Amino acid sequence: MASDPVEVRRSVAAWLRHAAAFRGLRCVRSAGPVERQEILRSDEAVTPKAHQGTLEAKGAPSTSDGAARSGSAGGAARAPEAGTERGAQSARSGAARGEDLRARAARWPPEMKLRYLADKVIGDCHRCPLARGRRSIVFGVGSARARIVFVGEAPGGEEDLRGEPFVGPAGARLDAWLDAVGLARDDVYIANVVKCRPPGNRDPRPSEVDACAPFLRAQLRAIEPRVIVALGRHAAMFMSGRDDMSLGRLRRMQLAYRDPKMQGRTIPVVATYHPAFILRKPEGAERDRFESGVLGDLRRAIEIAESSGREHP
Ligand code: SF4
Repeated sequence: MASDPVEVRRSVAAWLRHAAAFRGLRCVRSAGPVERQEILRSDEAVTPKAHQGTLEAKGAPSTSDGAARSGSAGGAARAPEAGTERGAQSARSGAARGEDLRARAARWPPEMKLRYLADKVIGDCHRCPLARGRRSIVFGVGSARARIVFVGEAPGGEEDLRGEPFVGPAGARLDAWLDAVGLARDDVYIANVVKCRPPGNRDPRPSEVDACAPFLRAQLRAIEPRVIVALGRHAAMFMSGRDDMSLGRLRRMQLAYRDPKMQGRTIPVVATYHPAFILRKPEGAERDRFESGVLGDLRRAIEIAESSGREHP
């Protein structure tokens, strides 16, 4: 039996730690101040590991190195084995749950993927400062199985008010173009790169585009369109990954949308004018010339959609 007082204190504390695993807080309450300290330290050593399992299941970077370092430096190093096992078990079951959800989600129909994105992923998003001035998050409308997806830059005042992209005069112009090429709004899907209205209808800032773009990317992975029509220069640059080019030049190029999560698959992009830009032109020959250019772009998009791509099962 140990006679050194330090050894005695260590033995008592070790016994209490093991007892705590069975008796929980009752043991903390009945212990003296030194032992209580020891037990609580043991619990602290368990809790971050259990929590880490949940975080890793959510895709957060592993903190196990840090935990190991802090463990070797002090009392946390003496965490009871039962606690370590509990943390590892929690990590395994959390990761399994995450994997399970991902595997199931991959088989969901596109309608369900979009619904989950809108309800559970975006939710009441505050990932960028545009959340402060918005009235609605303008997610997107149309067919989840559309062959053609139209993408604008950001919602304006009318869209913000109604929570739907391309409504008001610009939306009416887009509807007229769709009608002219034999499409209805329900045949296509319409969304914006950024989901909340920038104040004063200014251009979205790069940091706002970076914050919001993953939602559009996820929408496109859910819909898997055959072709994307980018409305306006900013949307065309974003969708094609081309910087600083005039829309006139982008319209003449063969563009493609790439997403690292699409396993090398690309989606053709057709760039054309934004309806708001056309509406700013005075009525007459010049506007007609621009509009006939838009209709030509839309017919090209339809040809691409009819000649390529894959269907949803
Ligand atoms: S613009 Fe996008 S990222 Fe920013 S708050 Fe709205 S939904 Fe979230």
